[in-house]
Amino acid sequence: MHELAITQSVVDSVCARAGGRPIRSVRVRVGVLTAVVPDSMRFCFGLVTEGTAAEGARLEIDQPPGAGRCRTCAVAFTLTDLILLCPCGSADVEITSGQELQIVSMEVG
Ligand SMILES: [Zn+2]
Repeated sequence: MHELAITQSVVDSVCARAGGRPIRSVRVRVGVLTAVVPDSMRFCFGLVTEGTAAEGARLEIDQPPGAGRCRTCAVAFTLTDLILLCPCGSADVEITSGQELQIVSMEVG
């Protein structure tokens, strides 16, 4: 359950950034290839924000789909997991989307 560790670090970051002001909402971008389950992350968010400036804040999760591009034949395709194999048979695939793990915005006040 790596959502707990990830969510903990998100909450630590936004609380540090808020400088003691209450946080109303946090928006994160978590690509599907990170294997983070949004419902799990929401559950963890409720736990780790308890007693912090982010208690009661809304968590919004954007989940970009996975995408890759083959360095051999240059075709672009959807990735649903981390099996990096182009339909042409090449394993020389560059991940272009889906590994995002970032805080996009937060609302304080
Ligand atoms: Zn290919």
